[in-house]
Amino acid sequence: MRNFLILFSFIGFISTHAISQDSQLKSYALVGGMLIDGYEAPAVHNAVVLVSGNRIIAAGPAHEVTIPDGTPIIDTRGKTIMPGLIDMHMHLDLIGHGDYDQYYTLLGGTRRLAEVMPIAAKHMMRAGVTTGVDLGSPFDILAVREQIRAGEIPGPRLTISGPWITRIKLDGVPDSYQIVINSPTEAAAKTLELIEQGSDIIKIWLGLTLEDMKAVVNAAHSKGVKVHAHLYKVPAMEKAIEAGVDVLQHVGSAKMPPYPAALLHKIAEDRIPVVQTVAHRIWVYPASIENPSRLDNPELEADIPADIYANMQRSFKNIRALSYFKDTPDEIRHSTINARQFIDANAYMGVGTDAASPLNFHTEAMWREMSALVDSGMTPARVITAATKSGAEILGKGGELGTIEAGKLADIIIIDGDPLFDINALKYVAVTIKDGRVWFNKKYTTDALTALGTAF
Ligand SMILES: [Zn+2]
Repeated sequence: MRNFLILFSFIGFISTHAISQDSQLKSYALVGGMLIDGYEAPAVHNAVVLVSGNRIIAAGPAHEVTIPDGTPIIDTRGKTIMPGLIDMHMHLDLIGHGDYDQYYTLLGGTRRLAEVMPIAAKHMMRAGVTTGVDLGSPFDILAVREQIRAGEIPGPRLTISGPWITRIKLDGVPDSYQIVINSPTEAAAKTLELIEQGSDIIKIWLGLTLEDMKAVVNAAHSKGVKVHAHLYKVPAMEKAIEAGVDVLQHVGSAKMPPYPAALLHKIAEDRIPVVQTVAHRIWVYPASIENPSRLDNPELEADIPADIYANMQRSFKNIRALSYFKDTPDEIRHSTINARQFIDANAYMGVGTDAASPLNFHTEAMWREMSALVDSGMTPARVITAATKSGAEILGKGGELGTIEAGKLADIIIIDGDPLFDINALKYVAVTIKDGRVWFNKKYTTDALTALGTAF
């Protein structure tokens, strides 16, 4: 049996800690809910999680955790306490507009990124996403990350790729999003430049040769940086694996015939992390055809500048005609088969959404992706572990994030419902705690939450 209760020198920890912490960071206890700790283990009922400053001090069944006198209590009875979600593939510059060309025109290229990125950051936190991997944006994102880190705006911890490396320039996307290379030597040089400028990881995209990929991987690994590849097709996956790419992004969501068993076996056996991103077209598109009213949402309208919101709504007028979804009916035909192959092969998986691609709002993207993975054969417990513990490990942050246990950073969400019974309960995020700081949905306001945190 795992040891839930590691109460390490509690008093000393607080007294030294309190001095270095922001005055908004307090001690408190989450009491009475069901705890899913991230380990794909049975939940703990009537649990207590103790937080002090930005750390978890103790977590376990109520009878094993002593709550120090005077500790403020957040009542979590009837709710689920679980680790903050980790979106392993997202885009902070996007908010779900239907047409990329129109969107970037509207933003004046990158001119209004500082306006939209904080909206995406807030929406992610509302959806319980406390860590996000941004796979492709200009370095404008660094300033927004600083605002988040300073506590000026709500937002997830961000791991960023900066601009992607490609041989084929994408039209309609501003130049500062992409680094076009023409040789392996150039690929290596640009990789080092990106790391110098602030890339935490490297994203490779279109048309790279095996030699290009090897050059990027060697350069990145020389700096301890991982390479994520955007891939759908089998030959590209084989090439990336041969080149030593660290994370395979998008695989499992293509309109492909079944993936070869030998390839799946290798991916599983070598524990090459896979992020499927299955929902963003295949589940989100039919959901929007069936229920177009999801697209005109007061929660989005309240945050998004009026001209952008109006333009977005115009882009949703005929979603069947959007170029982003031109292959989606074909993709849907094989979708659960493709996704299920990776699941059945026992591939090592993180969860990514590609939000906020068209119609795929940050406010909903994670629960939709997790729900799609359950539809495709994962148990809710397994998909929760993939979206928390595994994501943290893939980022090399498994020692600090991804589970609820003593000593870890306090990234915790409280869900109004039981996601083990129905994964869609993840749409009801009542409280998002990041780094110990409490943010809560106004619908769930209580005196304790008001005293400890910020409504958003
Ligand atoms: Zn993407």
